[in-house]
Amino acid sequence: MRKNIIAGNWKMHTSLREGVALASALDKKIQKHEGNIEAGVIIAPPLTHLSLIKQVIKEERICLAAQNCSSEIKGAYTGEVSAKMLKSFGVNAVIIGHSERREYFNETDEILTKKVNLVLENDMKPIFCCGENLGQREEGTHFGVIKSQIQNALFHLPANDFSKLIIAYEPIWAIGTGVTASSEQAQEMHAFIRNVLKEKYGKEIAENISILYGGSMKPANAKELLAQTDVDGGLIGGASLDADDFFEIIKFA
Ligand code: PEP
Repeated sequence: MRKNIIAGNWKMHTSLREGVALASALDKKIQKHEGNIEAGVIIAPPLTHLSLIKQVIKEERICLAAQNCSSEIKGAYTGEVSAKMLKSFGVNAVIIGHSERREYFNETDEILTKKVNLVLENDMKPIFCCGENLGQREEGTHFGVIKSQIQNALFHLPANDFSKLIIAYEPIWAIGTGVTASSEQAQEMHAFIRNVLKEKYGKEIAENISILYGGSMKPANAKELLAQTDVDGGLIGGASLDADDFFEIIKFA
């Protein structure tokens, strides 16, 4: 059965000292919590923080993710960091295809395909993001947009590799805007995505993939969003920078 997952995307926030303090505060909250924590917890701090944060969290409580990796294996690519390098210092998941990377760094479906392949080859989990912009939502093309993002970057994968993915639906108009998709909009799209996966990979794989919602999720709206049948957790930006807020969301999942 699929697992609920709460993942925090810190983006380009926190100094090293702040990041280590945030990760360790979260780890302590989870450790000290008396009830059951059902959800898997992932954090994706900035690259510069990963190695040190690895030392202050326990893998059984928090999974460490990177926000990006190179689409190349190795070589003369100044400034890039490979999937193999991430794996070598204990990263277990990588966010791929975030809308900010698609938009500001021109990441195409072809590039995302290469990244997904490298993440899987290095035994890590891709957290694959898809999402439509406001114009596409308003003109009613959002279902087609999401279907092609998934098909183009992922449908070359054999079923056993595909089943290792986490999918995050992140409507661009809801990211960092304070505007959240309604729980009906989120459920509608998540059910649509699961159906797209079912058509290609069959019921069992589709039912077992975690599909996270991302876009201004915070303690005040998380409970309702996470209660939807096909919403299996959240990818959280802003609210993941506050250990209390992030932990509140974790408890709802
Ligand atoms: C994100 O960037 O993945 C995100 C969902 O951000 P926020 O929660 O701040 O909207």
